[in-house]
Amino acid sequence: MSAFLALLFRNRLAGMGAVVIAAILLLVVTAPLLPLHDPDVTATADRFMRPFAEGHLMGTDHLGRDLLSRLLHGTRLSIAVGVAAALIAAVIGSAIGMVAGYFGGRTDNVVMRGVDMLMAFPYILLALAIVAALGPGLMNALIAVAAVNVPFFARNIRGVTVGLAGREFIDAARLAGMGHARIILTELLPNVLPVIVIAMSTTVGWMILETAGLSFLGLGSQPPQADLGSMLGEARSAMISHPHTSVVPGLMIFLIVMSINLLGDGVRDALDPRLRSGALSRPRATTLVRRQGDIPPATDDLLAIQDLRTEFHIGKRNYRAVGGVSLAVRPGECLGIIGESGSGKSVTALSVMGLVASPPGVVTGGAVRFHGEDLIGAPYETLRQKRGDRVAYVFQDPLSTLHPLYRVGRQLAETIRSHHDLSKAEARARAIQLLNDVRIPNAERRVDDYPHEMSGGMRQRVGIAMALANEPDVIIADEPTTALDVTVQAQILSLLDDLRRERGLAIIFITHDFGVVAQLCDRVAVMYAGGIVEEGPTHAVLDTPAHPYTKRLIACVPELGGGRRELAAIPGLPPVLDDLPPGCAFAPRCNKAEESCRQGEIPLQGPALHAVRCLFPERAH
Ligand code: ADP
Ligand code: MG
Repeated sequence: MSAFLALLFRNRLAGMGAVVIAAILLLVVTAPLLPLHDPDVTATADRFMRPFAEGHLMGTDHLGRDLLSRLLHGTRLSIAVGVAAALIAAVIGSAIGMVAGYFGGRTDNVVMRGVDMLMAFPYILLALAIVAALGPGLMNALIAVAAVNVPFFARNIRGVTVGLAGREFIDAARLAGMGHARIILTELLPNVLPVIVIAMSTTVGWMILETAGLSFLGLGSQPPQADLGSMLGEARSAMISHPHTSVVPGLMIFLIVMSINLLGDGVRDALDPRLRSGALSRPRATTLVRRQGDIPPATDDLLAIQDLRTEFHIGKRNYRAVGGVSLAVRPGECLGIIGESGSGKSVTALSVMGLVASPPGVVTGGAVRFHGEDLIGAPYETLRQKRGDRVAYVFQDPLSTLHPLYRVGRQLAETIRSHHDLSKAEARARAIQLLNDVRIPNAERRVDDYPHEMSGGMRQRVGIAMALANEPDVIIADEPTTALDVTVQAQILSLLDDLRRERGLAIIFITHDFGVVAQLCDRVAVMYAGGIVEEGPTHAVLDTPAHPYTKRLIACVPELGGGRRELAAIPGLPPVLDDLPPGCAFAPRCNKAEESCRQGEIPLQGPALHAVRCLFPERAH
């Protein structure tokens, strides 16, 4: 709650609205206790007294009634009617929306067509018709205003409910034997309540205005009872000669509606979880770079990651996701990166092309060199030209990287045409060719499939085809086979292996599966807590792991046909990235750790090919 208030008042305008409306509410609630004149007593001798006249702070109206008193009582009535109408509309409309959305099918159809019919009428005309039928009076105006707003709530809430009704937690409630009413009240309602509150807070102002409108036309409150609309209506004829009689209620309507709307906007923003997490603020086109220290000199590798540091700055905390990683690949080489989930593999990969979301991501040091050219400081246009063209990515979940509404062929063609000047027909032919390359049977037909029409393995092949589309020099594959079953995984791996041999492609292959590394990679780097703890030729690292972490990671892998044995989990948890211990990050979980391990930075050392960041490495010799 206090977080909500803090968020609300960070929005200055909403805070101002809250203060104004609170002051008005305080005034009108205490109005009967204040030493005011009776609002309905006429005194024709005192007609049209100016503001600040003796005994009448705001003057008097055409019947000599005290304007201040009428204003406070009238405001009280207007707000009460507006809020009551909003509550009624919200309750009825939300109930209709939830029932329609939850049951769906025919119920939904019948109910929502009725709602649509109501919506087809112009708003204020419908309200007028209702009051005309019921007869003038404040109560009937309230009913009319509530009625014309029911469809608004019904539509909004139905939309939200439809999205929720198909979710697993509703199915689970059903399977647990809950009745419909209980599911709607205990499972659905808490989830749609914020939406109802938001819809209400943004419409209360409207409803007050509509009620005032009806009263202005003489259809709402009846004389002598004052509300803001009727005060305006009665003052209309004296607008030129005695403007204060209409300015006073007019100003009040303005203040109320304005402050409620500002407050409503603030409430909406503060309650919306997406706005709150900042997900709707668009990330920058490239990762923010704020490098400290020297930029490492160029090397002659195809792609070299040099002492790369990527952090996430969230609030006052700095999460060091990648803390000084150096890696390099040559053409035709496959480099594996392996490590527990959360060790920084994906962030390393995304940093290469400036794809880490900023905010909160910041590159704070190091360089990424492609053919010697530093990509970290490069302008957006340089990166854009290389993204998907010279360096391409394959991600874990093709269903979330492919656009669900376009045919795969069209998406492939788009990839090609955004970097090369090809006609549509040529691009399509190339797309078919690519699907053939990644061994999709019947490519001429499959090219017109939508992503959902393909199996997981097929989709991942499309993902690889897309990465291959512009014949890149490097492919960075981030766990491309993790979501697939082993047979499909094996096919995809051999496909990547073939492509690498045929085209001299360099591959950086990220995984947490040693079997995959053994099958595909020439070299492997083991990551832990944002740093590389061991690097070397695959067979050397797998056969004689030197870092205790690598050794225990390999020991965690169950062996097929190896008989029953106790699986060795690594005790302890991965470290928290905003509070890394000095020295070896693995020391708290390591059974060989000594005091010296916890002191200072430990260098990556050992024979040139097989290096390890450990003071007491496990060495066979
Ligand atoms: P993995 O090795 O499993 O690919 P990642 O590279 O995705 O791990 O993540 C490394 C660390 O960075 C994790 O601790 C993760 O919580 C953190 N991280 C990743 N993306 C973000 C982000 N957008 N905001 C904050 N922290 C992030
Ligand atoms: Mg990852």
